[in-house]
Amino acid sequence: MGRACCVPQCKSGKKVPSHKFPKSPIRCLEWIKSLNLDHLKSMCADELQKFKVCYMHFREEDYYSPHPHYHRLLMNTAIPSLLVYSNDSTDVKTENNVQQQPLQYFLNEDKQHNKDSQSMVTNTLFLQEQVHKQLSKQQVLLEICDEQQMEIKTEVPEVQQKINEKGTIEKNQLQQLHCEQKDNKKQQENVIYNLEKRLQRIEEQLTIMATPITNGSRRRSNLKHITRAKSLSPTARMLYNTVIKLRRSNNRLKRLIKQEKQKHKMKVLKH
Ligand SMILES: [Zn+2]
Repeated sequence: MGRACCVPQCKSGKKVPSHKFPKSPIRCLEWIKSLNLDHLKSMCADELQKFKVCYMHFREEDYYSPHPHYHRLLMNTAIPSLLVYSNDSTDVKTENNVQQQPLQYFLNEDKQHNKDSQSMVTNTLFLQEQVHKQLSKQQVLLEICDEQQMEIKTEVPEVQQKINEKGTIEKNQLQQLHCEQKDNKKQQENVIYNLEKRLQRIEEQLTIMATPITNGSRRRSNLKHITRAKSLSPTARMLYNTVIKLRRSNNRLKRLIKQEKQKHKMKVLKH
């Protein structure tokens, strides 16, 4: 057995079954943390090989038996976790050889068991408390989540309504723009139509001005076209027609007067 247990205040002595520190530094650290071995914290895994932890700090579940007649062995994953101290167990030689163990050992073992179960109870109580705490935390989180969900639920329709309103406003604006464009187009078309009409009239007037006055027949037809006899009111039309008739008769009379004058001149010359 060699060295005594390295757990401070553990008085199990050198003769009880004990276990070397693991070779893995991570597992060494787990042992040190679990047993609060502050004085070994600064050592490396190789240095820790000199130290041992006695069986009292391991639970029953940390051991296994490869065969019913063999000594039980410590599991690879075992972590010593029991910080209980025996008062006087220096006489204990081996754990498994029950016949060689003094009666006091069994007393101690009973005490040990009691302490073990007590610590188990406190452990489970502690765990229960922690679980309760976690549960209450989760409940609080759930409540917060619920509140947030409610907020989101109330916000979503508002946002949707806003979007819809914006959509309708934009639609109306587009329609207005469309109407305005249509109106503009109509106005432009009207302006063009009016301009075309004016141009036509100007052209007609120009042709009238350009035609020689002697060409009476052509002028008359143009005049007729410009005054648009068809579009005049009935009385205006009548007046217009009488004016034309009077002009024609006037011209005829003028021609007759001319002819008579020439005949008269000829008669005077003959005589
Ligand atoms: Zn010990």
